[in-house]
Amino acid sequence: MHEMSIAISVIDAVTEKARQEGCSRVTGIELVVGRLAGVEVESLKFCFSAAARNTPAEGAELLIEEREAAGRCEECGATFPIAGYYVKCPSCGQFRVRVESGEELSVRSITIE
Ligand SMILES: [Zn+2]
Repeated sequence: MHEMSIAISVIDAVTEKARQEGCSRVTGIELVVGRLAGVEVESLKFCFSAAARNTPAEGAELLIEEREAAGRCEECGATFPIAGYYVKCPSCGQFRVRVESGEELSVRSITIE
C-alpha cells in the first residue's frame, strides 16, 4: 500500500532525527500534504499508527495539513487553485496549465522528548 510506505519513511526520518537529538520519544509530527500528492489522508493516519508501533514514534500525535494545489496558466499567466492535472484556465480558457504546487509531502515539524 502506497500510504504504508509513506508512513514508514516518515517514521524512519523522525526516529533518526530524535536519535540525533538524543531523545527517545517522538510525541508529535506535523505533515504537509498537497492535494495532488496522491495521498489519502485518512488512510495515511491509519497506516501511521500501525507503522509507529514499537518505534519511538508510537502514540505520537499526527497532524496533517492538506494544502490546496495551485496552477499557473502558461498562456495568460493567471494563477488559481486546481483540483487535478487536466484543468482549464478560468481566465482565458486554455488548457496550458502548469502545476505550481500541491504535489508536496513533507514533515513540517516534530516534537520530541
Ligand atoms: Zn490563461
